[in-house]
Amino acid sequence: MPTEKVVGIDLGTTNSCVAIVEDGTPVVIPNRGGYKTTPSMVAIAENGKRLVGHIAKRQAITNAENTVYASKRLIGRKWGSAAVRQSLETVPYRIVEGPHDDVRIMLRDQVFSVSEIAAYILQEMKLITEEYLGEEVQKAVVTVPAYFNDAQRQATKDAGRVAGLEVIRIINEPTAAALAYGFGKTMERRVSVYDLGGGTFDISILEIGNGVFEVMSTAGDTFLGGEDFDRRIIDWLVAGFQREHKIDLRKDKMVLQRLKDVAEKAKCELSSVRETEINLPFIISTGRNEALHLQTTLSREKLEELTADLVERTIDICARTLEEAEISKGDLEEVILVGGMTRMPLVQQRVAEFFGLEPCKGVHPDEVVALGAAIQASALTDEKHEILLLDVTPHSLGIMIVGGYFHKLIEQNTTVPTSKSHVFTTVKDNQTSVKILVLQGESDRAEENELLGEFVLNGLRRAPRGEVEIEVTFHISADGIVSVTARDLETGLEQSITVTATSGLTEDELKKMVEANKDYMVEVRSGQEFDRARHSAEKVLDEVESLFPRVSDIISGSDFGQDAVKKARSVIERVRAAIAHKDLAALTEGTEALSRTLNMFRGVVSKTGA
Ligand code: AMP
Repeated sequence: MPTEKVVGIDLGTTNSCVAIVEDGTPVVIPNRGGYKTTPSMVAIAENGKRLVGHIAKRQAITNAENTVYASKRLIGRKWGSAAVRQSLETVPYRIVEGPHDDVRIMLRDQVFSVSEIAAYILQEMKLITEEYLGEEVQKAVVTVPAYFNDAQRQATKDAGRVAGLEVIRIINEPTAAALAYGFGKTMERRVSVYDLGGGTFDISILEIGNGVFEVMSTAGDTFLGGEDFDRRIIDWLVAGFQREHKIDLRKDKMVLQRLKDVAEKAKCELSSVRETEINLPFIISTGRNEALHLQTTLSREKLEELTADLVERTIDICARTLEEAEISKGDLEEVILVGGMTRMPLVQQRVAEFFGLEPCKGVHPDEVVALGAAIQASALTDEKHEILLLDVTPHSLGIMIVGGYFHKLIEQNTTVPTSKSHVFTTVKDNQTSVKILVLQGESDRAEENELLGEFVLNGLRRAPRGEVEIEVTFHISADGIVSVTARDLETGLEQSITVTATSGLTEDELKKMVEANKDYMVEVRSGQEFDRARHSAEKVLDEVESLFPRVSDIISGSDFGQDAVKKARSVIERVRAAIAHKDLAALTEGTEALSRTLNMFRGVVSKTGA
């Protein structure tokens, strides 16, 4: 019996990528436009339709308020957190408070949880795979930044469920990258994976040897990535415009989206050229109805000056990680670069200087994480596979004890899965219940760490303080998801939680979302059929229109030729009307006619040698 296909999905801040292992080789699956990555963008169009990926990106400027990007920065976050405050100031879409101290996104008049937005992206990746394989896909391994905490991991798992995918394992992005790097190679090596993507930075140190991938240490910042580099450029553009025209461009959401677009484009261009023009004609009009343009030049040097501190922040984290893992730079044999931002020359230069190693060129920074996820997916489903992945927990875990202190049960960088127990006792005479606050973080003070969840163990025997013994056990699964049990050692009474509520969604809400999305899936598929047809039509249209002036010059001399030109015009109009009216049948029929016209045009051009 053929084994069930499990896909590997890199759910990125900026772009997402899906891969599978086919005949023993991991391959990235291109989307229907032929691209190997798909923008992690979701929008609601004016007619209420949900748009995902490239289609969402194409209309982002004209529909800025209803187009979500970089939502991964918000997943699993609390409403009051610094990350949310920062996003509130910078993104054009509306972020609102959810019912469980969580974050929701408002598009038109609908409110979405961040997991739902992620679900739509996962669903798109699922569809891309299903179209490629011609069969349904139900299971996936999804990657997350190594430094994601429990709530963020749980929220990502929830997203899978809403998308109709069982997430059989969550793995860390840098670990996935190392898996892809080490796949099929017989070697023993200590490597470092430097992963700077659109929203997050991660660094991991791994030991690879004979199919065993052991993470020794990991660290990162879940709010440091390409988006921050873009913002520095936007700030610089806004400040320049303000100086020149005394107008604040930030006030207009559409302008903000246009600025974001040009900023990112300029940043990417400056990875290969030393200077780039930034041009935004008619960016804003003055009170006197006069249009103003933004036109300037950005040099690589200036970009480096604007963003040097961001790059240095990543280098500081690298230094800390090596120190914590008690590894000297000389022990490392390879540095693997992952994430689109590692194309920036300054990043490559600083990484090479810091590690004293030329970064490995053999991996594709945009695809390597999805490939690693696919390798892990295949290892989990195929018994013959000889890969063992030993990951670590990125944060310490423990509970709050008397005085507001944090008692760690599991230290950061412990290999998972793992379990650890510790016995605690009551602090008051006749205390009949204890409240267990489950925390994640590194501070000694409980309030400075992340609260994952809380529960109460009731019914304790009345006794003098210190007499009742309560054993608290932490368990971290291979996904990095935490469950905690408290047990009265005398009576065997116990209470436990799996930390789920902190993803911001209750089980009830999730069930409703899964149901609502099921109805939607049908809609998405038929909508996408039209998008595909339009995509093919537009390609033919482009070519016909580009040949039109030449062909019409050549053939208009005869009556027959004039007739052919007239017919060609009418076919073009028919196709355009079918696109405008979203009429799939008319579009299919019109594209066929247009293809015949194109063949005729090509024939005319090649015969006359024009
Ligand atoms: P990822 O999350 O790995 O897809 O990385 C996306 C980030 O990489 C975005 O911020 C992109 O703007 C950035 N990026 C992609 N290509 C380049 C490039 N050539 N130079 C600089 N940054 C890039």
